[in-house]
Amino acid sequence: AAKSEHGDQARVYWSALGAESQRRVAMHQALRGCADSGDGLTLMFQPIVDLEDGRVRAVEALARWRHSEFGPVAPDVFIPLAEENGSIIALGYRLLEMACRSVCGLPSSVSVAVNLSMVQLLQHDCVDRIEAVLAASGLAPQRLELELTESVFALDGAHVGAVLSALRARGVRVAIDDFGSGYSSLAYLRRFPADVLKVDRSFISALDQGGEAIIAAALSMARAFGLELVVEGVETSEQLERVRRLGARRAQGYYFARPQSAAALADWLHARAAARIGLQA
Ligand code: C2E
Ligand code: MG
Ligand code: MG
Ligand code: MG
Repeated sequence: AAKSEHGDQARVYWSALGAESQRRVAMHQALRGCADSGDGLTLMFQPIVDLEDGRVRAVEALARWRHSEFGPVAPDVFIPLAEENGSIIALGYRLLEMACRSVCGLPSSVSVAVNLSMVQLLQHDCVDRIEAVLAASGLAPQRLELELTESVFALDGAHVGAVLSALRARGVRVAIDDFGSGYSSLAYLRRFPADVLKVDRSFISALDQGGEAIIAAALSMARAFGLELVVEGVETSEQLERVRRLGARRAQGYYFARPQSAAALADWLHARAAARIGLQA
């Protein structure tokens, strides 16, 4: 009797929720399932190109989720939802393992950049778990770059600093993602050890509205702190020319390639290498 009473209450509660909230609750549930099973979860890979020699130095792994009921859900939607209910932790390590395994099959000159949620970073055992994934996949730590957004630096500074130092001591590289898009203080550049600075793509799409000045400023800060700068979101040859003239070393964007499956990426890298050999011959 108690059980059916409970069921009735749940139904009343459920129908009182708006359609939008019902969808959220259902998506939270589905994300828990996905974190356990990996169902519908895939990765796409987007190259990051060295502007000096045109080589692909790394590929960024970008999560995709297709659910039987919801269809494809964008990462900007499902990552924050997974962060809300904690399923990002299992999901994040699953994605990290998928990314490391995929990149093992690529030339060893290619690293993989993986986005790490601040929820993952806040876990006390995050360094151990990352090491365990590296060991299980067989990827050299030097081929892993972890991307953290600026928001991480608003968190417990001592913990974040210790995690970043421990990762870097093991050879893993650390990138600050979406630089300039948040509200955080520039002081963290001095306080936190990192290797790469990725300028947010909003600046490249507004080069004439102050974006160019911000990229130039980011470049000089990157130089001062010994960071490598990556310009995100390069879509046209004109944008590429302008960031190259500013002195940017690495770039990523639709101009080079869209995010693509591991198999398509391997073909793309192959075709690119063949074309270069053709040019030299
Ligand atoms: P992000 O890490 O800044 O990733 C770059 C985003 O910019 C990707 O969107 C990529 O497809 C898009 N992009 C790349 N080049 C261009 C371009 O030339 N023009 C335009 N308009 N867009 C471009 P995506 O794949 O939708 O990912 C969105 C965000 O979701 C990522 O931003 C990242 O914050 C998050 N995300 C994706 N995968 C993961 C993951 O595995 N774990 C975590 N924690 N977050 C992830
Ligand atoms: Mg990223
Ligand atoms: Mg980014
Ligand atoms: Mg982003």
